[in-house]
Amino acid sequence: MKIDVSNVTHEEAKKRLEELRKKLRYHSYLYYVLNKPKISDYEYDMMFQELLALERKFPDLVTPDSPSQRVGAEPAKEFKTVYHKIPMLSLGNAFDDDDLRAFDKRVKREAGVEQIEYVTELKMDGLAVSIRYEKGILVQGATRGDGIRGEDVTANVRTIRDIPLKLFGDEIPEVIEVRGEVIMYKKDFEELNKEREAKGEPLFANPRNAAAGSLRQLDPKITAQRKLHMIAYGIGEVVGKEFKKHFEILQFLQKIGFRISPEAAVCPDIEEAIRRCKYYTAHRNEYPFGADGVVIKVNDLELQKKLGATFHEPRWAIAYKFPPEEAETVVRDIIVQVGRTGKLTPVAIFDPVELEGSIVSRATLHNEDQIKRLDIRIGDHVIVRKAGSVIPEVVRVVKEKRTGKEIPFKMPDRCPVCGGPVVRLPGEAATRCINASCPAQVKERIVHFVSREAMDIDSIGEKLINQMVDKGLIKDYADLYYLKKDDLLKLERMGPLLADKIIRNIQNSKNRPLANLIYALGIFQVGKHTAELLAKKYHSLDEIMNASEEELAQIEGIGPITAKSIKDFFSSELNKKVIEKLKEAGVKTEEEVKTENENLPLANEKIVFTGALKSMPRSKAKELVRELGAETPDTVSKKTTLVVVGEDPGSKLEKAQKLGIKTIGEEEFLELLRRYGKWT
Ligand SMILES: [Zn+2]
Repeated sequence: MKIDVSNVTHEEAKKRLEELRKKLRYHSYLYYVLNKPKISDYEYDMMFQELLALERKFPDLVTPDSPSQRVGAEPAKEFKTVYHKIPMLSLGNAFDDDDLRAFDKRVKREAGVEQIEYVTELKMDGLAVSIRYEKGILVQGATRGDGIRGEDVTANVRTIRDIPLKLFGDEIPEVIEVRGEVIMYKKDFEELNKEREAKGEPLFANPRNAAAGSLRQLDPKITAQRKLHMIAYGIGEVVGKEFKKHFEILQFLQKIGFRISPEAAVCPDIEEAIRRCKYYTAHRNEYPFGADGVVIKVNDLELQKKLGATFHEPRWAIAYKFPPEEAETVVRDIIVQVGRTGKLTPVAIFDPVELEGSIVSRATLHNEDQIKRLDIRIGDHVIVRKAGSVIPEVVRVVKEKRTGKEIPFKMPDRCPVCGGPVVRLPGEAATRCINASCPAQVKERIVHFVSREAMDIDSIGEKLINQMVDKGLIKDYADLYYLKKDDLLKLERMGPLLADKIIRNIQNSKNRPLANLIYALGIFQVGKHTAELLAKKYHSLDEIMNASEEELAQIEGIGPITAKSIKDFFSSELNKKVIEKLKEAGVKTEEEVKTENENLPLANEKIVFTGALKSMPRSKAKELVRELGAETPDTVSKKTTLVVVGEDPGSKLEKAQKLGIKTIGEEEFLELLRRYGKWT
């Protein structure tokens, strides 16, 4: 419905706008904060539309606190830094009743009083913010940051419905900084993740991450779509208003337009506070938002001041953490998943149970040893919980409930994805699929194959690899060498020039050093250094493939476990096929035997000594010519290139003369050494 404001004068508009803003603020407070709307959504929307129409006609009448101004700011380039005049400290933790009683004892001792009154509030699992109001108008919103410096998220907090742009009521302080937690409701979190999943976007791990990610958006329009809430729990700087009790602050915050923790309560002593903690724990899943504990604060503000704070945390407050929630269920199956790096992970599938507000039906069992430790079998009753409130885990088996029909788990000896061999090396917890063409690992393996230290193929990034694999263009890294330009042109954002370049880069990589190729194959535990050792020793991939495990283990720098891993890799028929494909494509798998002496002046010389030298012992003479690249066999043969003759030569001289090999005396020998700086 269109609202006609064409006949409204400037004067009338001004008056009507004031009225509308007041009404809208009041009703949104009833709706968002108190949850007790007095008018229908339709009536509210009509008032809002009228407000927008009037503001469009008279832009000079738009005020920053108008309900229309929640979303309006342009995306920011980056967040400005905000310094908190009064630091936003974190809280110390308590995990059980004893911790709470110890806290109470400390407080009493330091305050010098017999009994302390506390306030308990639910501890929200969200992102702490500080909202500054001057003369009742929202002027700044900042994240907690490190407690001293936060980020300016003013434009974003303005989009949150239960943060008033203008404070309510008549007793508005000159300045007040309201502190609270920005949260996302569990159902909104689930919906958001569903939407993201549908769009192929990464999911948020939990409502807290979703709330933080949504608030810290450079574009406030995104924040506005995210259904965030804020629960106020205290104040920072305040000018023009005095409080005596913390609970009084909470009530005041509610009066001026904020939501506060539901069921916040005053407790006459710590025992009552402990009872409250038990109450909240029992009801933790009934709240629409995630709460991870209870905050217990000294109610008397004078006492708070007296107690003060350490560098990190106030001495007058503590956070009681909810114990992880546990549930019993029955394991129906243990399946095995294969990760991107080939690791096999057993996962327990059990009857769905609710844990900390969400339904879970599976938990990772990490590896074979963990299964043995737990002695978990299919059909077992087990106790599960959420570790760190996020990932479900199996805590223990309820062995009393065993019937004898439970089936022990055995790690498969074939990969459940590709059927290739799996290997668990001595000393390793993980069992791995070692098949280079395993579909579960293919993307990761190609990423590795093209990397700089490996085949160093430019212009092929992870995104392109994902596309090529998903479209079925390649099934393993050897397929790269068979890619055609037409294949590449089927991909998104691919033009003929780029396709040519990619093909060229792939073809140019065929002659990489052998060590790069060995490293690129992705043999578990074979890093670049090991690859270099192998290349240096064998000079050809075939030689390495034919080497025995014992032989490999004898290479200095390669241990028996790595040797086994190398042998396992090359023993796999599937891997042999991939290597065959590489060879057929023309990838170089051997290199010329290069000695390190190749460029030295006496390289290719084979020098034999006979008779004694006056200037040095024979061993020294040999050492010097070896340093110049020569070999120094002990006997004369057809391959000998030079014989150095000293005093009292033996039969070697005769043999040399017989074979027509050049001979020189000591003087000439020294001359030779001088030429190359080995003698002075
Ligand atoms: Zn596999």
